[in-house]
Amino acid sequence: MKDPRLLTGIGVSPGLAVGPAYVVTWGVPDVPQRVVSKGDVPREIERLREAIADVKRHLDELRQHAAEHAGATEAKIFDAQILMLEDADFLGAVERLIRDNQLSAERAFEFEVLELRVLWAQSESQMLRQRRADLAGIGIRVLKRLLGQSIQDVLKDRSGKPVIVFTRELTPGLTVEFDREQVIGFASVEGTRMSHAAILAHSLGIPCVMGLVGGLDKIRTDGLVILDGTSGTVLTDPTPAEIAEAESKAERRRQFDAELEAVGAPAETIDGVRVALRGNIDLPEELDTAAEHGAEGVGLLRTEFLVVGRSELPGEDEQAEYFSRICRRFPDHPVVVRTYDLGGDKFPAPFRPPREANPFLGWRAIRVCLDEPDIFRTQARAILRARLHGDVQLMLPLVTQLEELERSRELVAESAAALEREGIPAAPDVPIGVMIETPAAAMLAEEFAAASDFLSVGTNDLTQYTLAVDRGNARLADRFTPFHPSVVRLLKRIVEAGKRANLEVSVCGEMASDPRAAILLLGLGYRVLSISPPRLPLVRWLIRQLDAGIAESVAAEAVEASTTSQVVSVLTEAMNGLVDVDLLPSKLVAQG
Ligand code: PEP
Ligand code: MG
Repeated sequence: MKDPRLLTGIGVSPGLAVGPAYVVTWGVPDVPQRVVSKGDVPREIERLREAIADVKRHLDELRQHAAEHAGATEAKIFDAQILMLEDADFLGAVERLIRDNQLSAERAFEFEVLELRVLWAQSESQMLRQRRADLAGIGIRVLKRLLGQSIQDVLKDRSGKPVIVFTRELTPGLTVEFDREQVIGFASVEGTRMSHAAILAHSLGIPCVMGLVGGLDKIRTDGLVILDGTSGTVLTDPTPAEIAEAESKAERRRQFDAELEAVGAPAETIDGVRVALRGNIDLPEELDTAAEHGAEGVGLLRTEFLVVGRSELPGEDEQAEYFSRICRRFPDHPVVVRTYDLGGDKFPAPFRPPREANPFLGWRAIRVCLDEPDIFRTQARAILRARLHGDVQLMLPLVTQLEELERSRELVAESAAALEREGIPAAPDVPIGVMIETPAAAMLAEEFAAASDFLSVGTNDLTQYTLAVDRGNARLADRFTPFHPSVVRLLKRIVEAGKRANLEVSVCGEMASDPRAAILLLGLGYRVLSISPPRLPLVRWLIRQLDAGIAESVAAEAVEASTTSQVVSVLTEAMNGLVDVDLLPSKLVAQG
């Protein structure tokens, strides 16, 4: 039975912290119901503007603090928050509420933030869900300022004693505001590996666990805890023996990590099979990690970050510059740019479709891009221009029909012709690949292989749509597994279709970062994996321990299995003896 003292979440910044907990109730303050007279409306609007200007100044200070203590790229995280406070649509909506409904500035601001939070929570865009903490951060700051409450009272009374901070939602501001000497660990209920606060904690070198659903009630201020940012766990009321054991595990991990880092050689199995390891990039701040860990290019460049939190779509020049910059980081390798995987959400303004009952099955990704071809053309033109600086390739998300690929090809060809006519330097063509991330595309893998330049399996969505399990639903986390036999068999079908067409087939879903999956994918015949940059050393090391011949028989057994637990036990058995599972990071994919 599970130890009731052990709370599990996601390890987002590795390392061990042992010390007293400190529960921070940094939340939205109570905002009194208040309306104002018509005559007071201009004053309320003025109050709002002053508060926003003040908070922007404070965020600017935090940005400088982050630049000094975490790095220049991390400091840019505060730009996202400052941008939200400059968003004309957002501010216009708050001012309208004051003007039309005579709400007080704080009521109107609270109302609009809440509305956005709800919308972002419903969005299927991971990026938007992750940015909710940024929104919460500015919401709390502006409201406190409007209500005349102090913003910086957290930890004031602690007289510098080290603590592990527990909070519902860790905002980027909270992460950098605390003194590194005083805060030795962070834990929060909300948040994921890609939250800005997680990225900051990682850069600051502070162990951090997020996603502690239901965990906060079990924590009391000053109670001793062990926080393990590598395995993503928190142990309350540990015994001295448990503390000693945790410390010795941390030491073994440090040695193992040093061993992983020291693997300079390429990912090649004992019997000489070479696997290309690329990085998945969501945010520019991940580029350094990918390059430092020897990524052989970018196998999935998500472009949604370019639009999130903005009131306008980014232009062609900005995108061309961004893609070219990435090419220059990886001059000898491909950079696979995925066209927008947006939809169902409210940002930016051009993407404001009516609310949908099933946004995951709705107007999103390639459907949006083909229905609004100008959006697609802008990206295609930027990609063609960037191709002059490296091996940029274009990848289409959520494809279900061959016609979507054909139409995309037409739009790319039109864009190339237009660039030429306009005398703008650009490549005449670009390889176009398809993400196989729906059962429809997997069943048509043969046809897609014949019509595209490469295939890449998005196992996150492929799992979600094959199993009809929402990938973001914590309640269904145990059911969301790419080791379900149906997914394993689709993976086999896809790689074989690719091989017959002599096409590169990669895997770019999170699955590729899981050591057990690496054995399976290698054994099925995948030779290109695109993974989360921090996992590159582990997967490279693992591949160098494997024998492709053995992996092949392991995979053949997994394909024959009829239940998830059979697949998992085949893979776990293959892992035994290869690696001490205690040393591995917390599971990237939730599965049995
Ligand atoms: C996937 O679905 O596996 C994938 C890589 O794309 P995303 O996670 O961005 O949906
Ligand atoms: Mg996907």
